[in-house]
Amino acid sequence: MQKKQILKEYFGYDSFREGQEKLIDFILSGRDVLGIMPTGAGKSLCFQVPALLFKGITLVISPLISLMKDQVQSLIASGIPAAFINSTLSNNQIARALENAKSGKYKIIYVAPERLDTNEFYEFSLNSDISMVTIDEAHCVSQWGQNFRPGYLKISEFIDKLSKRPVVSAFTATATKEVKDDIVSLLKLNNPFELVTGFNRENLYFGVQKPVDKYKAVLKYLKENPSKSGIIYCSTRKTVEEVCDKLIEDKFNATRYHAGLTENERTQNQDDFLYDRRAVMVATNAFGMGIDKSNVAFVIHYNMPKNLESYYQEAGRSGRDGSAADCIMLYGGQDVVTNQLLIDSSNENSELDFENSEKVKEKDRERLKQITYFCHSTDCLRKYILSYFGDAAADTCGNCSNCNTTFEEVDITEDAQKIMSCITRMNERYGIKMVIDTLRGSKSEKVLKFGLDKLKTYGIMAGIQEKQIRDIINYLVLNEYLALTNTEFPQVKLTQKSRNVMYDNEKLMMKTLIEQQPEIRKTKTRVAVNNALLAKLKELRFKLAQQKNVPAFVIFSDSTLIDMCSKMPANADEFLQVSGVGKIKLEAYGKEFLELIASYSNPEKPEAAEKEYTFDEVCTLIREQLELSKEPVTISIFADKVNYLLLQNNFQKVSAIKIADYLVSEGYLEIERADGKNTKVATEKGQEAGVVTVIKNRENYESYKQNLYYIEAQRLLANNIEHILKYVYKVG
Ligand code: ADP
Ligand code: MG
Repeated sequence: MQKKQILKEYFGYDSFREGQEKLIDFILSGRDVLGIMPTGAGKSLCFQVPALLFKGITLVISPLISLMKDQVQSLIASGIPAAFINSTLSNNQIARALENAKSGKYKIIYVAPERLDTNEFYEFSLNSDISMVTIDEAHCVSQWGQNFRPGYLKISEFIDKLSKRPVVSAFTATATKEVKDDIVSLLKLNNPFELVTGFNRENLYFGVQKPVDKYKAVLKYLKENPSKSGIIYCSTRKTVEEVCDKLIEDKFNATRYHAGLTENERTQNQDDFLYDRRAVMVATNAFGMGIDKSNVAFVIHYNMPKNLESYYQEAGRSGRDGSAADCIMLYGGQDVVTNQLLIDSSNENSELDFENSEKVKEKDRERLKQITYFCHSTDCLRKYILSYFGDAAADTCGNCSNCNTTFEEVDITEDAQKIMSCITRMNERYGIKMVIDTLRGSKSEKVLKFGLDKLKTYGIMAGIQEKQIRDIINYLVLNEYLALTNTEFPQVKLTQKSRNVMYDNEKLMMKTLIEQQPEIRKTKTRVAVNNALLAKLKELRFKLAQQKNVPAFVIFSDSTLIDMCSKMPANADEFLQVSGVGKIKLEAYGKEFLELIASYSNPEKPEAAEKEYTFDEVCTLIREQLELSKEPVTISIFADKVNYLLLQNNFQKVSAIKIADYLVSEGYLEIERADGKNTKVATEKGQEAGVVTVIKNRENYESYKQNLYYIEAQRLLANNIEHILKYVYKVG
């Protein structure tokens, strides 16, 4: 078979993306390669296609267990024999997998780097025909990289011991010069062909908004984009909790993730999102490493992150399957302050001495400045990001909030001169806020205390709004007509360029907003789709994924479903034309999807009307359909699930505390008084029913008690839902 044929039959794609074909050709010619491509570019195909063409086995070394599982599931779903070997398997399972591997049952085997070192794996490798070793996330080999993994250092030793040297291919999304050199030397790549593709992600829309009420902005977006799955990043755990609670209250199918949750909760919530049981993930930046979910349609930043590196990485988790996705930043001035405080109080590098630690902080402040400018920029946002990473870019992209906004050019020369003159008279010793207050003639305590009301420039911009002056100052800083110091309290300074304006009357024009029209997007990648059909297709995908117990995107990616909507295939041949449909998937799912599409193009068949549930019916629904977790969960998680079903059917939600009160009234929990606080703990009856009280430690080492509900207890609650609801609704 040819590589093009493999691409079509197994993966269902018609053409290669940028860089893929070249890397594949070099690999097939027997040369080592190093591919540096951004997240979502399609690195996996670069080794999976040649793996199928090679005679022997391809070993893929990958750092994350969750990634391995997803990738292997996807491969198997496409008809490619693959397996993974890592610590989630028992010794027996490993032995069996290696037995199968020896007999040539798999073409691709994923392993964790630590596994290479074990006797049984080494023995298998010596007795098998290994054509290629692929190192995914290759930056893990470098101490300079973000996620150094000592196990990666053993890879070259392992390869050296093999009887025949296989082709070695390495892939990563980020590599600075140091990291790249480390990859080549530490993995001992042999004269590798190196390929770097650009950072641009064409299908992502970038938007910056400065809403007065951030939560309202989120609601608006979610209402305008129903049935889309996405992530909302917040800077603190507290904000995550608040936003997630409000969303659930507002009937959105949301879940949460942050380091303050128990490990069980985190795994559970992550899986709920991954498997599309929950559409919206509200999370801190702890969420995302190893999230390979291909159908994330939006990433909203509720707070501005601390630098553009983090921002682009987090935003880049959307649209991995190539379909259009939105990256929206909700900027607020407070975000800058919060980040400044974080930098100032950070002891991340506690092994550094004072001087070096200050240097690091200075760099951090510089990066913070850059992302703040990004939020204030009126130029193309994509260009801003790409230039930041050293990529060339066109002046406008047509797919960001600045390119889609109409601006008016305003002459600000005179205002700029007033501002600069004021800064001069203030001896360049104050921050932006003080400059504005002085210009506006504020009678604030500080202004009076420092005698700024005596300056000639005091009050010369009295009639102008604070925001307007701030916008002008930001513009001047952005264009280097002013500078901010990299200190704990940044001071505004004049620059070389200020002189041209102050003394040579250089004319300054600033773009100001006329109207924002984010709805109108002139993007090439956004296609009109029949949303109703798309929702039905997603429902079917969800049902199939549940049956097979795999994440939904393993069945089909969003872009494949969107292509189905536009192509409306009527038979097997046409179904094969859909991007992402290969032979195996046609056989596995073709019939059901074709039937659904056919029923949809046939208007005679009306859809069943939405059903109104009675109280009894909703109780039955909860008893029968509430999904219970195998892992023990807290009562809040249980309540979230119940509330999802209640709210969907227009019933009032119940609070976790009230459910616990019910359990007290029934003798499953009792109230214990300690340290002046009331805590509910499991009674003997409760313990028998599967409620366990555990002692947890907060970060400040205070301990507290938490009740976990095992599956029996969850079932008991579900079975008694009628009593619980009556109890809760009655108590009010
Ligand atoms: P990376 O590892 O570079 O972050 P992946 O290999 O996970 O990216 O690929 C991201 C998505 O792009 C997957 O859904 C994959 O199926 C899709 N993809 C890869 N190559 C192609 C292609 N040539 N045509 C269409 N989709 C592709
Ligand atoms: Mg990858």
